[in-house]
Amino acid sequence: MLKDQFPILSRQVNGKKLVYLDNAATTQKPQCVIDAMTHYYGQSNANVHRAVHTLAGEATEGYEECRKLLKERYNAERAIITSGTTESINLVAHAWGRSNLSKGDVIVLTEMEHHSDIVPWQMLSQEFGVELRFVGINDDYSLDMEMLEEAVKGASLVACVHTSNVLGIRNDIESLIKISKSVGARVLLDSAQAVPHELIDFKELGCDFMAFSAHKMCGPTGIGALLVSEEAFAEMSTFMGGGDMIETVTLDHSTYQKNEHRFEAGTPRIAEGVGWAKALEWIDGIDLENEHSRLLGIARGVAKGLQDLGMTIYSGLGDLDAAVVSFTHPSIHPEDFARLLDAKGIAVRTGHHCAQPLMARLGISGTIRASFYLYNDQSDADDLLEVTKLIVERMS
Ligand code: PMP
Repeated sequence: MLKDQFPILSRQVNGKKLVYLDNAATTQKPQCVIDAMTHYYGQSNANVHRAVHTLAGEATEGYEECRKLLKERYNAERAIITSGTTESINLVAHAWGRSNLSKGDVIVLTEMEHHSDIVPWQMLSQEFGVELRFVGINDDYSLDMEMLEEAVKGASLVACVHTSNVLGIRNDIESLIKISKSVGARVLLDSAQAVPHELIDFKELGCDFMAFSAHKMCGPTGIGALLVSEEAFAEMSTFMGGGDMIETVTLDHSTYQKNEHRFEAGTPRIAEGVGWAKALEWIDGIDLENEHSRLLGIARGVAKGLQDLGMTIYSGLGDLDAAVVSFTHPSIHPEDFARLLDAKGIAVRTGHHCAQPLMARLGISGTIRASFYLYNDQSDADDLLEVTKLIVERMS
């Protein structure tokens, strides 16, 4: 069983078997990823790129293997390693936005963005007078594509969440890219929730920037990537200065590396790179398409079961297309509800999920969110429904 590869899943919480349903926040790590990182620190720890000794060679090889696997897996020519989705988007704002945008230029965002795809652009807007336009969502939670067509007119950048972390919606990003490209805009995808569930061909997709995090796909925290098209890469200017990103430094001038290292100043996240490389290898052995349909089946059953128990579901009025179920109880506050679930060993997330504008659009302050990943099975869904039923019965 896949679950057996994840040591944390055999622990107990509050005297009950752990049922981990907070995967949209972060996923658990298989033993092989934990072992790879432990082995790195126990046997190969050294700084990368700058020394000829054996350990430095092993560390460099381990770290660069991560970049190599990212490029191969996602068919991308450029993979900048960052601390995660948030840093990847901020990097675009700094390294691309600052040198390509000026007062009056337009960035198109959507109402369902995570804060990490809103705040960096608000900062840029305040500093440079860039205009932000927000595309709304329809009552079925899909993006308002007519509004998008209007909004992209004259836009320089369209930045959109690929799969929502709240709504169980995967946006029609293929159409979004086509519409945005037809007006010559660059496109950034926040793929934090998409990459863990689908194998994406970056080049074929045709966007310019794709941001995601390792920790949402069984890799370590603190590391992620920004895939960049060659055209957009050529438009990026240096951002952070320091060691490793330079070619030469004199007292009055520096020249910079031409490749991704240009954007990775300082000692990188080496152990995390080694861990992510192992996670990428591991996930390569999984049929994500099959798994995605299996998890959707489970999540749809959960949405239906919760609805039958009187919950309001915010995860797609039709069928879900992501294994995320957001819901509220008519009278119990989401946090209280989550505490009652936790008392029975069930881990879910509550709150605004870093999407306050979306919460405002939905007219609520937060939801309870159950999100599923590769190691979840029907028994986890059954446990959630059973405990929810008990809570509802006790409170009625
Ligand atoms: N975007 C989305 C859609 C997310 O779900 C998350 C993580 N909650 C992020 C961005 C930010 O990811 P990270 O915290 O790993 O930078």
